[in-house]
Amino acid sequence: MMIRPRRLRVTQAIRDMTSETRLAPSMLIYPVFVREGKNIIEDIPAMPGQKRYSPDMLPVILERAVNAKIGGVLLFGIPEQKDETGSSAWREDGVIQTAIRTAKKEFPGLTLIGDVCLCEYTSHGHCGLLKGNNVDNDSTLEILARVAVSQAQAGADIVAPSDMMDGHTRAIRESLDNAGMTDTLIMSYAVKYASAFYGPFREAAGSAPSFGDRKTYQMDPRNVREAVKEALLDAEEGSDIIIVKPGLPYLDVLKTVKSSVNIPVASYCVSGEYSMMKAACSNGWLNEKNIACESAVCIARAGADIIITYYALELAEWMREGSL
Ligand SMILES: [Zn+2]
Repeated sequence: MMIRPRRLRVTQAIRDMTSETRLAPSMLIYPVFVREGKNIIEDIPAMPGQKRYSPDMLPVILERAVNAKIGGVLLFGIPEQKDETGSSAWREDGVIQTAIRTAKKEFPGLTLIGDVCLCEYTSHGHCGLLKGNNVDNDSTLEILARVAVSQAQAGADIVAPSDMMDGHTRAIRESLDNAGMTDTLIMSYAVKYASAFYGPFREAAGSAPSFGDRKTYQMDPRNVREAVKEALLDAEEGSDIIIVKPGLPYLDVLKTVKSSVNIPVASYCVSGEYSMMKAACSNGWLNEKNIACESAVCIARAGADIIITYYALELAEWMREGSL
């Protein structure tokens, strides 16, 4: 007797029932850029459809996030003033702290995640304090911990250190606990590659390094064993969730990391991936809904428990429509 695959003849309902990968709005995180100022909603040219909001205008976009029932929002602060040490990153009235306080007050049920890094706040655009022309890992840890505590005190549910300094999770966990913020979770960028896909983000957040690159603290795209090592270290130091970044070009890394740790793993589908899709779709070369949905499915299939994506609000909508 000939055995044939039946999948082509079953109904859509059966295909849905038997599919290996399921998505839900609750697994999506939407990144939002907050800039200092008042009454501002401005376009980000390199990321069509994405905008920068002043803290007072943030409710416009957060309301959409609440209605979409997504998992949470990841807030990036863009200060007016930058200096050598990034001191506006931990000011009580800093842009991100103000944004978090506003958001918490207006939408207490929305999960707020604060990006913890210095590159948006330093005049040199590097993610830590400089010693000569190099980032000094250990003195940076103390500053990052201060930033994390200030965000937690403003109302962040989760802090997300994206700096890639060694020992950042432990330093932040200890400081949070000492400040009595024991319930604040840490979602660390354990696996962040020195990637060319971050270009549009640097325009969006004004965080391009003024000299050199980040290859001394971000990972080499040729390596995957290092990713497992970093992920295990961060998990051991107290991360509650770890991030693998970028998304689509690093699905092999995501899968390997996922099988190595026993905490949730998030994939960050970054600005360059978003902008490539947007550019192709605006030229009519790709269908936006199809390409965004397929990308999310592939990231989930590779093992992501959480997807951080600029398409989060649309994806949630498409899921509700039954397109995903
Ligand atoms: Zn940074």
